[in-house]
Amino acid sequence: MNLNTLKQYVQANNPKADLELIERAYKFAENAHKGQKRSNGALYINHSLNTAVTLAELNLDANTIAAGLLHDVPEDTDASLDEIKDEFGEEIAGLVERITKLGTIKYRGIERYIENLRKMFIAMAEDVRVIFIKFADRLHNLRTLNALPRAKQLRIAKETLEIYAPIASRLGMGQLKGKMENLAFSYVYPEEFTKLNNMISKQYKDRVHLINKIKGNINKKLKESGIEPISIKGRTKHLYSIYKKLLRHDREIIKIHDIVALRIIVKDLPDCYGALGIIHQLWKPLKGRIKDYIAQPKPNGYQSLHTTVFCEKETVEFQIRTKEMDDDAEYGIAAHWFYDENGSILPKKSLEWMREINSWRKEVEENKKYLDTLKIDVFQNRIFVFTPKGDVIDLPEDSTPIDFAYHIHTDIGNKCVSARINDHIAQLDAKLKSGDMVEVITDPKKKGPNRNWLKFVKTNVAKGRIKNATKAFGIFPFKE
Ligand code: MN
Repeated sequence: MNLNTLKQYVQANNPKADLELIERAYKFAENAHKGQKRSNGALYINHSLNTAVTLAELNLDANTIAAGLLHDVPEDTDASLDEIKDEFGEEIAGLVERITKLGTIKYRGIERYIENLRKMFIAMAEDVRVIFIKFADRLHNLRTLNALPRAKQLRIAKETLEIYAPIASRLGMGQLKGKMENLAFSYVYPEEFTKLNNMISKQYKDRVHLINKIKGNINKKLKESGIEPISIKGRTKHLYSIYKKLLRHDREIIKIHDIVALRIIVKDLPDCYGALGIIHQLWKPLKGRIKDYIAQPKPNGYQSLHTTVFCEKETVEFQIRTKEMDDDAEYGIAAHWFYDENGSILPKKSLEWMREINSWRKEVEENKKYLDTLKIDVFQNRIFVFTPKGDVIDLPEDSTPIDFAYHIHTDIGNKCVSARINDHIAQLDAKLKSGDMVEVITDPKKKGPNRNWLKFVKTNVAKGRIKNATKAFGIFPFKE
């Protein structure tokens, strides 16, 4: 990655962009960060450059890209914001200033969470480009997370899933959300990530073969009917979305219809519905899987037609939409930001977004309960607790110290006599909360679990092990 790569990205998306400005910003940042290295040993400027490339990929204006290059200068170097203002003017300096003010977001407890969200909202309302820079910055930090200690990795990955990804989702930035989530997922749930990755890659190969066959077929049929598709592409579902889907289905490995879906981009609305009709003539649709998000967009504005059909004994999902809808789904609000390099006037749709964000922010400030809707389904029904050694254990909501004990080891569960939560003795049926530090006290002489525990334990693991152990110890159901 170097300056030329960045320039190529910028030019590919925006031929009119001010490359001279970008080059000046690069040189300024390179000079300011001279001698600085990142935890992974790379030169610091590499981080600035990667942040800028993501912004270029989002097709943002040259000022935002320049601000992306300069985003860590005031905080981490001797060069000041005033120098940036002298060199690059008010607008770029303003963006850098806001990024610096936004600072590091720290994941710790609900109060901090609200405080962080408020900071994000204010920055967003003032200039949404600040959030784009923050996202781009975060994306590269996630990509280089490997070099950091485990505790830091976990903090950054968790706050990505809890704060950044839901905001990206609300802004309709599907692509960035997917990238951030996938990276964070591998750090928050490393085992599940590997398991799922292995599982999917097997299915994936078979699917790609099938999808390629169908692609040729549908392309021909559409053309015969006078619909000229702009593109037909196989789309792989993000691993983290699959994971969430599995969680919703009680972690059972069910068939996920849309591991690879076919996305058809057509020129206008009539062609969308026309293409849907042709697909349904060719293959039988699955009941309840036809979704018209064009007539009824998702809350974040997402528009597309979805259908799943039976095709060669397999089910295949199709997504049909126009180019504009596709850009919306991939880039969201970023797709509407800047139409030309000179104008600073927002297109109408962005103004609507801004209004929505503003009212959204007010609601959060006025009503903390609203946070629940914001968290969407990220971590819904899951809590994170810590062992005395600082390991993070992920449990369903309302789990108890007994669930925690069985999660660690069957013997610890069986021999559990009491527990401490945050250094205080607690009831065995106490409900754990995210962030609790839980310590289980065992008695080696204890014969086995108490069957009454079945009345309050939450996890299937605990239930199964209590049942097994009470059987083994000859304790009969409902007699204590
Ligand atoms: Mn940074």
